[in-house]
Amino acid sequence: MKTIKDFDLNNKKVIIRVDFNVPIKDGIILDDTRIKESLKTIKYAIDNNAKVILMSHLGRIKDETDKLKNTLKPVSTKLSELLNKNVIFVPNTRGEELENAINNLKNGEVLLMENTRFEDLPDKKESKNDPELGKYWASLGDIYINDAFGTAHRAHASNVGIASNLPSGIGFLIQKELDNLLPAINNPNRPFTVILGGAKVSDKIGVIENIVKKADYILIGGGMAFTFLKAEGIEIGSSLLDIESIDFCKKILKENENKIILPIDVVTDQKECFITDITMEERGLDIGRKTVKLFKQYLDISKTIIWNGPVGMFEEKKYSHGTEEICQILKNIDAIKIAGGGDTASAIKNLGYECAFTHISTGGGASLELLEGKVLPGIDVIK
Ligand code: ADP
Ligand code: MG
Repeated sequence: MKTIKDFDLNNKKVIIRVDFNVPIKDGIILDDTRIKESLKTIKYAIDNNAKVILMSHLGRIKDETDKLKNTLKPVSTKLSELLNKNVIFVPNTRGEELENAINNLKNGEVLLMENTRFEDLPDKKESKNDPELGKYWASLGDIYINDAFGTAHRAHASNVGIASNLPSGIGFLIQKELDNLLPAINNPNRPFTVILGGAKVSDKIGVIENIVKKADYILIGGGMAFTFLKAEGIEIGSSLLDIESIDFCKKILKENENKIILPIDVVTDQKECFITDITMEERGLDIGRKTVKLFKQYLDISKTIIWNGPVGMFEEKKYSHGTEEICQILKNIDAIKIAGGGDTASAIKNLGYECAFTHISTGGGASLELLEGKVLPGIDVIK
């Protein structure tokens, strides 16, 4: 697959699709991680004398008020600060002002176009990959570089649409994601252990079906563990239950008896106990200490570990211990350790354990789809 390094960027109009989908409140950027992560690719294009045209989505646009909340203007200010360089912001997604601004760009200059999803009003042209829109945006540049991993699992006009109409490659951020995720999933050093948690089984059925074929062990925690426990006939009280997934869990457990490891104890809203001691009124919210020890035995011998889904309701401090213990265990293990999923990444960050990982994926949905064994349309189009 072509990367930005395979192109001569000198004097070329290079469209870079970045992921500037940052949290903004009242015009203030609350977390600029995503902007910082895109800098390597942008700087490379600047240093190689490109005329840099940046495109990104921000939030969802369903009506006119969403446009006011989701303008990329604050991002252009922040980006300018981070690059220590002027960034030309164009408050449109098409038309003369945009075209003129692009045609007036000098080598090494940077322009940011307004939120691509402004084109979702009225008829979802961006999100439904309207062919005319992709063609139009492509007509604004000479080369297209996709570096927005977070949207690579969606076929939108700003990725698949443009890439279908221009010589294309991937940027450094997508390259890093693929270089870490693909070998871990498809060619892991063994034993290969996957830790799965989070809320619902139904969100992760695709992941479980694919990963069960590849992993040596699957350690299950979080809310989803209770549907598996229920499938084993255990009383789970008022813990999270995904009724429609019980049969799926039964089947997976039956076919993979020695592979799926379930919690043996639990922290509920009332006490810490064996999973067989949960009463009707109780709700399981974290894995217990005996389960942490059990999981550790598997993790200690593993050579590749992928983690998706917090093992407890980590947003509340008193139910974050299991998740923190897993971080601590991983920190002391010499293996390839990869985390994916939006909440998993933020749990690791909040607990201060980023250093424990080989790679933490920046794309929640995209990394899940790779775990499901799917191809990502925004990347496939570049191959
Ligand atoms: P990711 O975004 O990493 O893929 P998910 O979205 O699947 O993860 O799951 C994260 C959510 O799961 C968190 O909001 C967390 O509170 C919730 N969760 C974890 N354990 C439990 C539990 N025992 N009961 C209810 N919710 C839980
Ligand atoms: Mg989530």
